[in-house]
Amino acid sequence: MTPVPPSPARFDAVDLIRAKRDGAELSEAEIDWLIKGYVAGTVPDEQVAAFLMAVYFRGMSARELADFTAAIVASGDVVDLSGLSRPSVDKHSTGGVGDKVSLVLVPLLASLGAAVPQLSGRGLGHTGGTLDKLESIPGWRSQLSAQEVLTQLETVGCVICAAGASLAPADRKLYALRDVTGTVESVPLIASSIMSKKIAEGTLALVLDVKVGSGAFMQERARATELATAMVELGRYRNMKVAALLTSMDVPLGRAVGNALEVTEAVEALEGRGPADLVAVTVALAEVMLELTGLSGDPLSALQDGSARQAWTAMVRAQGGDPDAPLPVAPVVEPLCAERNGFLERLEARSVGVAAWRLGAGRARKEDPVSPSAGVRCLVKPGEAVEKGQPLLELHTDEPSRLERARQALHGAIAIADEASGAPTSPLVLERVG
Ligand code: URA
Repeated sequence: MTPVPPSPARFDAVDLIRAKRDGAELSEAEIDWLIKGYVAGTVPDEQVAAFLMAVYFRGMSARELADFTAAIVASGDVVDLSGLSRPSVDKHSTGGVGDKVSLVLVPLLASLGAAVPQLSGRGLGHTGGTLDKLESIPGWRSQLSAQEVLTQLETVGCVICAAGASLAPADRKLYALRDVTGTVESVPLIASSIMSKKIAEGTLALVLDVKVGSGAFMQERARATELATAMVELGRYRNMKVAALLTSMDVPLGRAVGNALEVTEAVEALEGRGPADLVAVTVALAEVMLELTGLSGDPLSALQDGSARQAWTAMVRAQGGDPDAPLPVAPVVEPLCAERNGFLERLEARSVGVAAWRLGAGRARKEDPVSPSAGVRCLVKPGEAVEKGQPLLELHTDEPSRLERARQALHGAIAIADEASGAPTSPLVLERVG
């Protein structure tokens, strides 16, 4: 085959950067040209970095954002799930501490008749990644072929796996560049990055779990609402049925933070024995997913009657995992104890996430390995009574040398009050968008 010659330069990258810098709107053709050129290597990193910084400060109009997202989607394949016998629906979380909701929700929806095609990622920083959690199950495989995904969706009804390299390759390049140019925290750039992958994955319906609070990407409610609104609009633009829930992330979700620890807690929830906050968020998201797909069913009953657990077992087995195998256990477990009697008032999510990360559960760079067994178990949650000397947290690690920095991360993260707070606790589900 003769190589395709590069298309003639219809635009000049410097003109587009200047236009965005000065607050002008770019046309669909200009945006398309920029993304195609970036993927082809004819527009270099430094020019796209400048463009991203201009977007960071100037934002994008709804029309520009839709065109930008469409150009990212068009850089790769789009999966066609319309031939499945079950309605497809997926969920995306913006990430939080102890957020193992996908592990419960994905098989739960499959047990209620949906096909859930979750292409997931690995953790970076203080929030964990779903693939890292599942990889603590002996034998479980994250890499599946497109045909394996389709077959599993028909036979089991759900899959959680790594996104193939052919889906939204422009996002992979853009995300890596944003990571090193201080342009991650931009609503249009986050919205286009998340939604381009969900559009390319082919799901017909989507619920977004936008976490708000100290342990979340978005710490301010108004920014979270802005992000949720941008993503819902992008989905609708592509005829996807989509809604978002803003959920609270000030305290770790459940009691386990860390890969195998979270799998264990997810299985407890799938057996109807999960912690109340994890179950509440999972059921709220499941109800929206049922509504979007037109399916009926009772998510709580499916967690209690074993049907969600059965779908989990089938999903893990289909991907080579042994759902009955013992999970890795950390050789070192250290308690962190209450300094006085009272009531736990605060257990700050971000600090617990950072502690788990420093114990080995997370990675600082994409290439780093993670420990399957490291993490934190929260033995007490806010509102509960504690006695001096009682263990509040358990720190799990493979390497005792990691304990000191994990303890440092927890300085100031825990507060014990004399009296139980009379103030109502803030709700877990804060708002629905869409
Ligand atoms: N997750 C993504 O996939 N992209 C972002 O930009 C942020 C979070």
